[in-house]
Amino acid sequence: MLQIDNFINGEFVAASTGRRFEKRSPVDSQPIASIAEASEADVDRAVAAARSALEGEWGQMSTAKRVDILHAVADEITRRFDDFVAAEMADTGQPHHVMTHAFIPRGAANFKVFADIVKNVPTEAFQMDTPDGEGAINYALRVPKGVIGVISPWNAPFLLMTWKVGPALACGNTVVVKPSEETPLTAALLGEVMNSAGVPKGVYNVVNGFGPDSAGEFVTRHQGVDAITFTGETRTGSTIMKAASEGIRDVSFEMGGKNAGIIFADCDFDKTIDGIFRSAFLNTGQVCLGTERVYVERPIFDRFVAALKVKAEGVKFGRPTEVGVNYGPLISHEHRDKVLSYYAKAVAEGATVVTGGGVPDMPSELAQGAWVQPTIWTDLPESAAVVQEEIFGPCCHICPFDTEAEVIQLANASDYGLSTTIWTENLARAHRVAAKVNVGITWVNSWFLRDLRTAFGGSKQSGIGREGGVHSLEFYTEMRNVCIKL
Ligand code: NAD
Repeated sequence: MLQIDNFINGEFVAASTGRRFEKRSPVDSQPIASIAEASEADVDRAVAAARSALEGEWGQMSTAKRVDILHAVADEITRRFDDFVAAEMADTGQPHHVMTHAFIPRGAANFKVFADIVKNVPTEAFQMDTPDGEGAINYALRVPKGVIGVISPWNAPFLLMTWKVGPALACGNTVVVKPSEETPLTAALLGEVMNSAGVPKGVYNVVNGFGPDSAGEFVTRHQGVDAITFTGETRTGSTIMKAASEGIRDVSFEMGGKNAGIIFADCDFDKTIDGIFRSAFLNTGQVCLGTERVYVERPIFDRFVAALKVKAEGVKFGRPTEVGVNYGPLISHEHRDKVLSYYAKAVAEGATVVTGGGVPDMPSELAQGAWVQPTIWTDLPESAAVVQEEIFGPCCHICPFDTEAEVIQLANASDYGLSTTIWTENLARAHRVAAKVNVGITWVNSWFLRDLRTAFGGSKQSGIGREGGVHSLEFYTEMRNVCIKL
């Protein structure tokens, strides 16, 4: 079994209390790692190391050198690509191709792209008139915000953690990362990479543990942490926001979604089925941007439901490395209990179960894994729990609509506002609808197509702030204005 320790001041260290917890494989429930659970004293040490790196070599380093080092981090991730793929597959149970095509390459890109943005983005300057006619010049300096607390989730652990660590370091901050207790492996591997790439001690620290009364809470309420960036559930965000209010510390939140897919009758049917299949079932539905509400224009409704059913019933369950497997387990039995409780609620609320709704028959060696069937429902009212609440599983409800105005109203009838995907061959309509859907990210005839230079974040209860491109600089740096009287 792997032994995973905390990574503090450039070294792997056991918890000061000696406490450890166990990580089990989602595929077959076998134990795979024993993880050091950071105490409050360990978090104190991590924050002190991050502060001292900020005041030391890292804080004094030229931008050019910092950029070079972050490129070296990206190159080292690429060199150790197979190790990262193996670690992430072990943690999440998700198929090999998901790791190699998307999740691990994005981790490396998160360091390169943000290093280059920091190197190339100018600050602002204003010439100013003054009463004496001599004038003044204002210019802005960007300075790092300080020690950043990074709290990350389990669904795409490496991608989502580096999406924060990359820009935070590029901007000259130091970090204390609390990865999800479900997925600690790649954050630890990244510690090794940081040392190999020449990142000074204390710049990147990892403390493992849980949320309440554990490492998550210790990091977020620590007054030595200057700002907190968090990805996870909206309810957790609310708790973290309270912690951040002590000391008036800044937050950036990327949280839950209940995203709508909007399908017009004039769509390219086959591409739309492929797109909605991915957006509902990729990563076993554990994607914040996933589509759990699908609205289909009435003339193609029956055909659409039938075609998506065929795709859902064609998924291949199995171990991540098995050839042809495109569908993994849920992250844990605890999460499966939650998803199955929604499957039961859907039936209780009168859903027609088009497909799925339960646990698949698995071969005996996988029977203990957190497997669940991809599931499609129709015929529920919009008020039903499974239509309103984020399930974060491989499931969607499909509902017919008749007019553009009606579907916009349906899509917006949610407490969340993360993303939407619109499928139509009518470009004017795509523009019209995109402008009216109240979400942070809209895709037309695609889904999860990401350009890291663009703003990413949610409206309503899906988030606070935007990260991505120069928007990340707005959170990870502070602008200081210098006014020079001529
Ligand atoms: P979660 O909120 O349960 O946990 C996220 C992290 O917060 C974990 O590291 C956890 O240990 C920590 N945490 C929990 N309670 C805490 C507390 N009281 N104080 C400090 N830290 C605490 O979320 P999850 O189950 O890991 O992830 C799934 C959720 O994340 C879904 O809601 C999903 O939509 C959301 N998500 C959003 C985005 C986005 O970009 N908007 C991306 C991925 C996932």
